[in-house]
Formats: sequence, C-alpha cells, structure tokens
Amino acid sequence: MNVQLSIEDVAPPTINAADEVVVKVGAAGLCRTDLHIIEGVWKDIMDVEGSLLPYIMGHENAGWVEDVGSNVKSVKPGDAVIVHPHRSCGICLNCRYGHDMYCDHGQFPGLGLDGGFAEYFLTNESSLIKLNTNVTPLDVAPMADAGITAYRAAKRAAGLVYPGAYVTVLGVGGLGHIAIQCLKHLCGARVIAVDREPGAQALARDLGADVVLDGGPDLIEQIKDITSGGSQVVIDFVGELGVENICWKLLRQGGELIVVGYGGQIEVPTVELVVNEIKIGGSLVGDYTELVELMELNADGLVKMHYTEYSLDNINTAIDDFKNRKFTGRGVIVP
Ligand SMILES: [Zn+2]
Ligand SMILES: [Zn+2]
Repeated sequence: MNVQLSIEDVAPPTINAADEVVVKVGAAGLCRTDLHIIEGVWKDIMDVEGSLLPYIMGHENAGWVEDVGSNVKSVKPGDAVIVHPHRSCGICLNCRYGHDMYCDHGQFPGLGLDGGFAEYFLTNESSLIKLNTNVTPLDVAPMADAGITAYRAAKRAAGLVYPGAYVTVLGVGGLGHIAIQCLKHLCGARVIAVDREPGAQALARDLGADVVLDGGPDLIEQIKDITSGGSQVVIDFVGELGVENICWKLLRQGGELIVVGYGGQIEVPTVELVVNEIKIGGSLVGDYTELVELMELNADGLVKMHYTEYSLDNINTAIDDFKNRKFTGRGVIVP
C-alpha cells in the first residue's frame, strides 16, 4: 500500500482543560508504528477509536511550551520539553502505581488523535519533562517513544543477566541502536547486534556492540556457537518479516525473549517452553519515570539518538527512505 500523506492548513489546537498544554513542535520522530497506521495494522490489532486516518500522526515529540491551562504549574511558555507519548490521567490506580501505559483513561496523541507532525500539538502537563539545558528538542524527540521503548526493554534485560551473559538485539534501527547503548551502560552483559543492513551494522559497532551479525540463514547456529548454547536474553525489535519465528530459537535454557517489534505471529511448541524454560513477553513503550532516566543518560552523553532530519514538507520522502532503510537510526520530522 502506498498512501501519500498530505500537508494541510489546520487551526492550531486550543486549550480545553486546566491541565492541558500546547507544545510548539521542535521535532517529531518517524516511527514504524506510523507505517503500521498507514498500513491499517492497528485497526486489526485493537479497536483504537479513530484509528483510521485521516488525522495528524506523530507521537515522538519534543518542542517548546506555547500555551498552558490555568492549573499548569510545572512548565511555562518557552520551556523546552520532551513529551511522554501517553497522556495519562495521574488519578487511576494504574497511574498511582506508576504504570503510565496502563492508564485507564490514557490517550496517545498521534495514534487516533492529532499528534506532532504539525507546528503545534496538544497534550497535558503530566506528560512533559523539561529538557536539560544542554539538550535541544531536535536532539531527543524520538527518545519520547523509540528511546523509552528501547530503554524499558534494555532495563528489563539488564535485570536478567550477569557479566559474561549475552543479550541479542534483533534490528538496529531507531530502537535497536538506543538499546545497545543502554545495555552497555546498564549491565555487564555482552551485546550481539543483528541487522541485514551494512549501515546499521557499522552503527552497532560504533555504539559498542561486542558482536555484529548480518542475520543470514545460519544465524541460529552462529549465536548458539558464540554464546555456547544460546543468548540469555533476546530483544526482538522487528517482530515481523519472519524474525518472529527465529527470535525464540536464539535463547539458551532459562532465557527470556522480550518482544518489542510487532506485526507477525509467534508460534512456539509448548514442549519448547517447558523443556527449555524459556519465557516470552512483550514490552510496551515505557513509563514516565523511564523517560526521565533516559533523559539523564542522554544529558550525560551516554545514550544518543542518531537521526536524519527531514522537513515536514518532505514527510513522504522520509517515509519512503524509512521503508527502504536509506538512513540509520531515526528519521526526524521538523516543521
Ligand atoms: Zn513510535
Ligand atoms: Zn490513569
């Protein structure tokens, strides 16, 4: 399917509630989820209200506060901010436990309602994190989703490994390249990065991956060989295109697969789960506090987003380049 996005003049968003904030967009990351929205994958997965286009996509946003509702206290116009992608309510029990992504009343601008591929977009105070003074919105916008999603998975992996163990990262795109950096700073495990693209392989090497593989037909044997039996953790940032049928076979006994990329279907014989005691689980974006932690790593220069900048007028070119993997890291849209 080749849907072209159109650029239209629309009225800027206005504040309708006391906790709302209008953000002047500095940059917005282009995500595989945006491609999946265009492809219609989301309407098949879940009944996201308004999941059918048209609306303004863009959920990896950073910029400057433009206008604030009457109750907003923590930010003021002009502040540079990154925007947690889920507008959580802060009141429900899930929010009180810190599970922002489980919020009973959450909204996801850019997915079903207007997001950040625009000059301005609307969110609420509780989703905002002020940027450190040495950081610009362009430097970090995709951290809002790609970044925390990778960080959350890497943090979970870090808790499952020990020095000498291996974590395998499948896919070194916008998320995978962040996960490699996070893993190198969160734990002593060795990182195996897998990607077919030479540019992504080079980036993985630059970022400190201990082993870089091209994902050829002998991947399973290669990894079993390198790790003496299998990887302790596999993080699958692809989740489709056949990778979903290989990822769990890379684990050693007692290993854990963390599924982040999506679109395909995993089929695992139950006997494999039992005999090898492997665990398989998904990882959904990340909590507000995880974005805070990631921004601290970024401010200290330990985790950086590699990106290619596109103007909003060129968003269809950016999408084509993304599909054809013409850039490494993330594509970022600047209005
Ligand atoms: Zn995203
Ligand atoms: Zn809530």
